[in-house]
Amino acid sequence: MEKIRYFDHAATTATKEEVLKEMLPYFSLNYGNASSMYSIGRKSRKAIEEARQKTAHAIGAEAKEIYFTSCGSESDNLSLKGVAYANRDRGNHIITTKIEHPAVLHTCQHLEKEGFRVTYLNVNEEGFINLSELENAIGKETILISVMFANNEIGTIQPIKEIGEIAKKHQIYFHTDAVQAIGNVRIDVKECNIDLLSMSAHKFYGPKGMGALYVKTGVKFEKIQDGGHQERNMRAGTENVAGIVGLGKAIELAYEKFDGYNEKIMSLRDYYISQIQEKISNTKVNGHRTKRLPGNANISFKYIDGEALLLNLDMKGICASSGSACTSGSLEPSHVLVAIGLSPEMANGALRVTFGDDNTKEDVNYLVDSLVEIVEKLRKTSQEYMKFNK
Ligand SMILES: *Cc1c(COP(=O)(O)O)cnc(C)c1O
Repeated sequence: MEKIRYFDHAATTATKEEVLKEMLPYFSLNYGNASSMYSIGRKSRKAIEEARQKTAHAIGAEAKEIYFTSCGSESDNLSLKGVAYANRDRGNHIITTKIEHPAVLHTCQHLEKEGFRVTYLNVNEEGFINLSELENAIGKETILISVMFANNEIGTIQPIKEIGEIAKKHQIYFHTDAVQAIGNVRIDVKECNIDLLSMSAHKFYGPKGMGALYVKTGVKFEKIQDGGHQERNMRAGTENVAGIVGLGKAIELAYEKFDGYNEKIMSLRDYYISQIQEKISNTKVNGHRTKRLPGNANISFKYIDGEALLLNLDMKGICASSGSACTSGSLEPSHVLVAIGLSPEMANGALRVTFGDDNTKEDVNYLVDSLVEIVEKLRKTSQEYMKFNK
């Protein structure tokens, strides 16, 4: 098989060797249950607390404010349901946005069925919420604002500090889904007045099936899973010690190598965008030009079907992602691209390319050359294109 060139780091990343190395002993050597008193149990407990410290340190939190979960989706569920249920006596209104990840959107829909009221804020063409629209949506019943730090499809980074200030002023809890931002953006939860923050290890070169949630001391929230007293009684289930160690190591590495890494992927991204703009006509960069994740490029190719584009890229060993909700096999355009006002045609022709540690400039050249060839081929069979570009 030919070499795989991976440009889908927003979907997942490979677990780093260094991370895996730290995890391995906790499977069959130091396998003790962290709740056990004997030595191998205590070793597990110690490893968990060290990882908690590293995770807290990376975002300017305290160790006791970190709860380990099974994934980013669980962290989002625990944040929204946990705060909603525990603060019912204060109100039933939640504010979020139209471009959240399904882990937030579908949790909100679930809460609506249980009697909560949810406002879904619009975003502009670049994917930003409007701060006065946010402030106007706040009412006496509002208990929680949930706005993602950075969008997974178009990379737009929200004005988190300003949102935190608004939430603080109105004494409303502020949750942010930072699953895409961790490792790519410097985050200080205190400086941004963030009350709850979700993250997921597999998006920053840690293992899949491992998440964490920061909850500021004093925030009233309740557990959503019943069982043992793990994670200070907020998240039942025997701790995934190896996974926790992996998350801790991955987040430590991400912030140790922050500048070099982010400069590298940003320059690959900018090179890619400029090459596409130079070599392929009828394209549009989605999202904001600079206030976006360093490794994210989302470009719409007019007159192109995203699915066909992905299939053709796959034949060349290239992994990327389309703008349609392809995971479910549906042909619906992405809710994010619809929210930023793309026509169905442009949304359908969107390609998300997300760069990471393993990419080189040579890889980008290969990607660009492949796209030039594939787009030309597909456009030749597009009636629309032939009609307008004879
Ligand atoms: C990937 C992702 C999630 C879900 O994380 P999992 O660990 O895969 O459950 C949530 N939010 C955003 C923004 C994501 O990109």
